[in-house]
Amino acid sequence: MKVFKFGGASLKDADGVKNVAAVLNSQKFENCLLVVSAMGKTTNALEKVVQVYFEKSDFRAQLAEVEDAHLQICRGLFSDEHPVFQEISFYFKNVEVFLQNNVVPDYNFVYDQVVSCGEMVSSRIVSLYLNEIQFANLWLDARKYIITDTSYREGNINWDETQKRISALDLKKCYVTQGFIGAEANNFTVTLGREGSDYSAAIFAYGLNAEAMTIWKDVPGVMTGDPRKFENVSLISDISYEEAIEMAYYGASVIHPKTLQPLKQKNIPFYVKSFLEPEKPGTKVGSLSQSAGAESYILKENQHLMHISTRDFAFIAEEHLSQIFALLAKNKIKISLMQNSAISLALCLEDKYGTLDALLQELQISFNADVVKSVSLYTLRNAKLEDLNKFYANKNILLEQISKKTIQIVTN
Ligand code: ASP
Ligand code: MG
Repeated sequence: MKVFKFGGASLKDADGVKNVAAVLNSQKFENCLLVVSAMGKTTNALEKVVQVYFEKSDFRAQLAEVEDAHLQICRGLFSDEHPVFQEISFYFKNVEVFLQNNVVPDYNFVYDQVVSCGEMVSSRIVSLYLNEIQFANLWLDARKYIITDTSYREGNINWDETQKRISALDLKKCYVTQGFIGAEANNFTVTLGREGSDYSAAIFAYGLNAEAMTIWKDVPGVMTGDPRKFENVSLISDISYEEAIEMAYYGASVIHPKTLQPLKQKNIPFYVKSFLEPEKPGTKVGSLSQSAGAESYILKENQHLMHISTRDFAFIAEEHLSQIFALLAKNKIKISLMQNSAISLALCLEDKYGTLDALLQELQISFNADVVKSVSLYTLRNAKLEDLNKFYANKNILLEQISKKTIQIVTN
């Protein structure tokens, strides 16, 4: 069994969906499971619906826009009489009814019930279209297979249950399912974090003991740096799981950080390929005996640099650290880089949920704390000496950290 994942960029319009069929054709569409994310920028648009709903404004216009965009795509794929139109509208109607009747104040819970609609309709359209052109497939509701806890918007997988359910699938069939979503024990939808469809694909690959997993992207594969942000980058043709995990950790956005662990555990080869040039080899991630480790550049933007010190200039000790980490965890703020000296702690932070100011206020009760907002974190892996000057050039460095294979600088 092979697992393929197609993201929003490959499904942004009817031609995109047709191209997915062409890619599948080039790969032989047999014994495979297809994981799809929401089409184009649907997830952002549905996030807006949730936001408008919580602002107590009328969310219907925004929701109708998303529905229209999907019906428009369907018009490019199906004849007018096809039942797909009614079905897609039904999914959006359900969201509307849910929001009308909802009394749960939890933003994250509501978010998951609404935003998951993007993946539901996308997978229905792809599945029906493929069946229409004789690529026989079964549509699966991923929420019956990927079981999580109730951490809405960042579900943690119940691996035993998930594995049990996925391994019951018939390996001789072809399936189309959703990325990004699972369900908790009471069947409410739980999303796995933005860009989580790669992770879903890896979870299915793990449960199926897949022979390989391929993520189809609009880039040729894993590059030595984001071509939009760095010059002279090149394609990495082979990379070890370990190096790919490191790159993802430092923020290489081509691979979702959680995706690699399940694949590595079962030694499932993982390819990143271009849906525009499916015949090209792309990047293979797998176990390499000797991993040379290409020099690579990673940029994380929208970071915040916080300095924390004790009020009485005492050393930062274990009890301070545990207090600080507890507050970070409570506010769901992620640390991208950390450096401590005797009396101060510097943290480069990622504020995914807009809780940075709340954290700062709480910290200021016990500590001196300040923050420089909107900084950038550059990471250079496996640096070549001759490239160092270029890396440091024209940057206003606020913090630097060097370890064996990694140089990181925070700049503004
Ligand atoms: N549709 C979701 C997102 O845009 C999941 C994904 O694309 O992987 O974040
Ligand atoms: Mg996406």
